[in-house]
Amino acid sequence: MNDNALRNHDEDRDEALVFAPEDTTQPIENRRPPWRILAVDDDEGFQNTTAMALRNMTILGRPLEVVHAFSLAEAARCLAHDRDFAVILADVVMETEDAGLRLVKGVRETLGLFEPRIVLLTGQPGFAPVRRIMEEYDLSDYCLKSDLARRGLKQVLTGVIRGYEQIRQLAAARKGLQLIIESSSRLAAARSIDDLARGALVEIARLIGVAAEGIVCVEVPPDPVDCDSPEGFPRGQPVVARAEGRFEALIGAPVGDLPDPAVRGLIEQSLAGRLSIQTGDAQVVFLPREEAHADYAIYLETGRTLDPAERDLLNVFATNVSRGFGNVALISRLDRLAFEDSLLRIPNMTALRREIERRRLDRNGEGDALLLFDIDHFSGYSDTLGSDFAERLLTTVAARLAAAFPPPSLVARVNDDVFGVVGPAEQVSLRRAGDVLAAPIELDGSSHPVTACYAAVPLDTDHADAPALKRAAQRALRAAKSRGQGVGMAWSPAFELESATRYRLHNQLASAIPRDEFHLVFQPQVALASGRIVGAEALLRWNPPGGPIPPDQFIPVAENSSHIHAIGRFVIEQACLAIRRCDAAGLPPLEISVNVSARQFEDDAFIEWLHAACAARGVSPTRLALEVTETAAVTAFENVVDALGAHRACGGKVAIDDFGTGMASLKYLHQLPFDYLKIDRSFVNDLEDDPQGRNIARMVIDLAHDLGCEVIAEGVETPAQQAWLVERGCQLAQGWHFGRPVALAEFIDRAHAAMAGA
Ligand code: C2E
Ligand code: MG
Ligand code: MG
Repeated sequence: MNDNALRNHDEDRDEALVFAPEDTTQPIENRRPPWRILAVDDDEGFQNTTAMALRNMTILGRPLEVVHAFSLAEAARCLAHDRDFAVILADVVMETEDAGLRLVKGVRETLGLFEPRIVLLTGQPGFAPVRRIMEEYDLSDYCLKSDLARRGLKQVLTGVIRGYEQIRQLAAARKGLQLIIESSSRLAAARSIDDLARGALVEIARLIGVAAEGIVCVEVPPDPVDCDSPEGFPRGQPVVARAEGRFEALIGAPVGDLPDPAVRGLIEQSLAGRLSIQTGDAQVVFLPREEAHADYAIYLETGRTLDPAERDLLNVFATNVSRGFGNVALISRLDRLAFEDSLLRIPNMTALRREIERRRLDRNGEGDALLLFDIDHFSGYSDTLGSDFAERLLTTVAARLAAAFPPPSLVARVNDDVFGVVGPAEQVSLRRAGDVLAAPIELDGSSHPVTACYAAVPLDTDHADAPALKRAAQRALRAAKSRGQGVGMAWSPAFELESATRYRLHNQLASAIPRDEFHLVFQPQVALASGRIVGAEALLRWNPPGGPIPPDQFIPVAENSSHIHAIGRFVIEQACLAIRRCDAAGLPPLEISVNVSARQFEDDAFIEWLHAACAARGVSPTRLALEVTETAAVTAFENVVDALGAHRACGGKVAIDDFGTGMASLKYLHQLPFDYLKIDRSFVNDLEDDPQGRNIARMVIDLAHDLGCEVIAEGVETPAQQAWLVERGCQLAQGWHFGRPVALAEFIDRAHAAMAGA
């Protein structure tokens, strides 16, 4: 290799290292250590001759240094503390006939020295060791002393030393490769550029036996199409990815800003020329983007010139490190694909799960919590303001969450409009979650008072894994949502019981209709002024084999599954039949109210079906009133408005049920088509002794008058309540005071009796 050349890397990819010129001012001999020779012979004359002969001799460019020993014992003493010999010249016959052979045996077997070459010498012919011994003890040569002059000592030694050098190189290469294998396997564990860059510096330093004092620079190609380069570094501008020792403070600095001009110059030269460079005291290893997915220059202070074997090692190692960087770039891309939400570019559910599991492995999740954060009526925003707006809303909420829950907490998008936060419980608290949307969100020049429900669950619960924990948090979240908007809820073991019951009910509900377990009961609705029965509310009863289950328990379960559709249709069909039976029994035309759940309006053909069901049973839709709770109306607002409008268009009536308990703002109320407001029974209950309840009841009645609709008071249990309501101008009422919900036959009998009494 031409030592003066700085080669372009692409020209010669195997030759990753290019070296600066060597210092040639010193005579070669002075710069290289001598070959050391141990001459063991009891013949002083021979020792002297040898010393003379070797004094000025050089072999393979290096001088010789001779150590003399005059007996086996002396040689053994010498070798005990000084083993660094290239050649041992040993006389066979010394204090004993086989002293030389015993020396050989001792060197190889006892001392375990395999590298020194051994030449056996003898004064007399006939003492040649047998071939077996030559091989067994790896003897290089056997010479008659008298022959030595003829063959030439220099020639004999040259051959032997060449052999020694080869063995040394092989051993060094084996050791180097061993080091590379060890280094590479340590580096294989690195999962980030930072880890790998640090590892590369440390391992290269270890490989050449210097301190890890250096810099790893990375230059990401300007064009993303070029390769799958690592994230987080600027494109087209080399920066310090990692630095060790005195350079440590430079991490993140642009290479152009490196304070030491010599270091900066070398690194810039390496990156620009795409080549490795060696000087008398430093080494720059260049790793090309073709392997590493970005160009890297690893600068290491060596304090000396590396020898050719070390350069070879570095070459091999550099290839491994290049692959390592390439793999990390790929892994980080895979990581991104697998653990990042593609829309918001924040961690996704998988990342959240990984973090939950990591924390639970770490400390059993002690002191950590998971929070779910669900924007209220998000679909309403995207329906009315467009998906673009909805996307920006999500981005804003994500940013607020990230600000409220900084690392070590992790904020992730779980799905649509639900975020998850996992982190230390003192940080991931309901209180903090409550503050996230305290200020309205400013978007498109107007401010939007967005709310969210949220629920927190500690990580150290009995839940088997992250998905189970998430389901627990979801149960708490559902409970929060069922209480209204902007509600936070802490998980408690009670949710688990509740959920087991719900699961059982859900399964049982599937077969309730075919098994004839449902029936309706009817509660009279009266005109307060006259006391006349004007209608009835149809209330569903479920009586499975284990005993009756109240609607407050099974209706929410049915609403959470598709069972509600079949159940809702059953109720309407039964209500139609009831109307027919009331008519047939000779009662005046009563209006029967049925409760309709929000989810029933998901079916766009619901009202069409309802009217067809009425027609099929010969019942006018005007006889059927639909009760929708305030919360349900707001939840599926668009659908509900359309459906209720269609029902009223056919002369049917609509009641807003449980009015006052929901969150409907007046804005919504104005758009809802309805005929009755039903004051929730909790306010009626409070009429006698709670001024607050009275206020609300009064406001509802006034509001209904303003809106031109009638008020039905629910849950009237006492004459005093009735009197108050009459006085306030409430037209209609239902409650135990007028009659409990009863089976149809009984209802008809009572209605007859009431009319007869009137
Ligand atoms: P709701 O529609 O508000 O029904 C009125 C509830 O108040 C009924 O409870 C009724 O029995 C009860 N009630 C009536 N008068 C009084 C009274 O003077 N005092 C007291 N303490 N309670 C009175 P119920 O039958 O247990 O129904 C509870 C809820 O279940 C209903 O509230 C309604 O939301 C739902 N529900 C009942 N049947 C159906 C149905 O067929 N479909 C749907 N979607 N929901 C239904
Ligand atoms: Mg009702
Ligand atoms: Mg009600």
